[in-house]
Amino acid sequence: MGDRTCPVETDGKACGKPSAPKDSRLWCSMHRNRWYRHGDVHYLGKHGLAKTATPEQRFWAKVDADGDCWVWTGAIGTHGYGMFRNEHGKAVTAHRYSYESLIGPIPDGLTIDHLCRNRPCINPDHLEPVTQAENNRRVPVEVRRLSARVPRPPRTTCKHGHPLSGENLYVSPGGHRACRTCAKRRVLEFCARKRNQAQAA
Ligand SMILES: [Zn+2]
Ligand SMILES: [Zn+2]
Ligand SMILES: [Zn+2]
Repeated sequence: MGDRTCPVETDGKACGKPSAPKDSRLWCSMHRNRWYRHGDVHYLGKHGLAKTATPEQRFWAKVDADGDCWVWTGAIGTHGYGMFRNEHGKAVTAHRYSYESLIGPIPDGLTIDHLCRNRPCINPDHLEPVTQAENNRRVPVEVRRLSARVPRPPRTTCKHGHPLSGENLYVSPGGHRACRTCAKRRVLEFCARKRNQAQAA
């Protein structure tokens, strides 16, 4: 049994970890779990990152720089700013990380102002270090009064335009509202992916 190793190849190199006990394809438990969960033995998470990625690679993989604003697509904090775990494992705001890696250190006591008023934006051209007092002065009074936690009105359609009402609306025990049409489509897509994988294997 000891010489059964996982044959899954990445960049032309076989995995080589011990095969899972009952796996006829000789896959190791990691590759087997990955296939079961994602339908793809090479799945590397939604941002397509290997474990060996550098902090910079991890950071820029989560930025959508197509538009004028460079939008952070990773985690968003309660205050509406992008959040990133830096090389020391510390959670920092994405726009500060961007500013410090592209422009330079932010002087002590200064805070970063978004000139574009778009909090998930990390484009250093839209960021300016200012004093906290200056930052408060710049934010219009009516915006300051609205906290980031103001509840949004419930949506009436899903992002594909299906009505979030009547038979199409599913409300989870936790109060989350979801579209049944889209949920069904996702399940069908998932099954089709698995079938294709099985046929290709
Ligand atoms: Zn493996
Ligand atoms: Zn911007
Ligand atoms: Zn839908």
